[in-house]
Amino acid sequence: MRMFSDKALLIATHNSGKMEEFRHLLAPMGIDVTSAKDHDLPEPEETGTTFVENARIKAHAAAQATGLPALADDSGIEVDGLDGAPGVYTADWAETPNGRDFVMAMTKTHEALEAKNAPYPRTARFCATFVLAWPDGHDEVFAGKVEGQVIWPMRGAQGHGYDPMFQPDGYYITFAEMPSDEKNKISHRADAFRKFVKIFG
Ligand code: IMP
Repeated sequence: MRMFSDKALLIATHNSGKMEEFRHLLAPMGIDVTSAKDHDLPEPEETGTTFVENARIKAHAAAQATGLPALADDSGIEVDGLDGAPGVYTADWAETPNGRDFVMAMTKTHEALEAKNAPYPRTARFCATFVLAWPDGHDEVFAGKVEGQVIWPMRGAQGHGYDPMFQPDGYYITFAEMPSDEKNKISHRADAFRKFVKIFG
């Protein structure tokens, strides 16, 4: 595995929430962190069919455009009773002409499971894949996940996305009922983060 010894890192995201998470994580390492927005980079089309393909598209596009090492992530929820859907299309399931609607997306997920009479527990996992790409074309992949089940009706008002229908293993509350600092310790992104920080010598 290539270690990270550069002084600057570009985070290939236009999402300010994600950007803050990365800044916070990387602050102790004395690295100059900038975002895709800071560099006026266009958002590349996510044409991959896996998390790693989409994260690679974003990371390599940013590294090539700027000459800086770039980190990108791609995430979503895989539901076993739906053969892994929505998976890489998690955000797409929430798209409406007026923006994203996650209550609709979660309802669709539940209804698809009901239509298949899927057995309980309805196991699922959140996945997050990070790709760190260097301008010379090399990359490293860090995959994180958190196992659990999807429940219905949805519960809780915190968090975002599919949090109200996801109950992680070992808990009787959903991600949306959990304080954010607790979720951030056990989440798919935390798992990928832990693997990623190991490459800072
Ligand atoms: P992307 O990684 O920005 O493409 O996001 C994929 C989709 O997965 C988002 O639209 C979120 O709704 C969903 N997602 C990713 N992580 C989480 C999470 O921690 N909780 C709830 N939904 C999530």
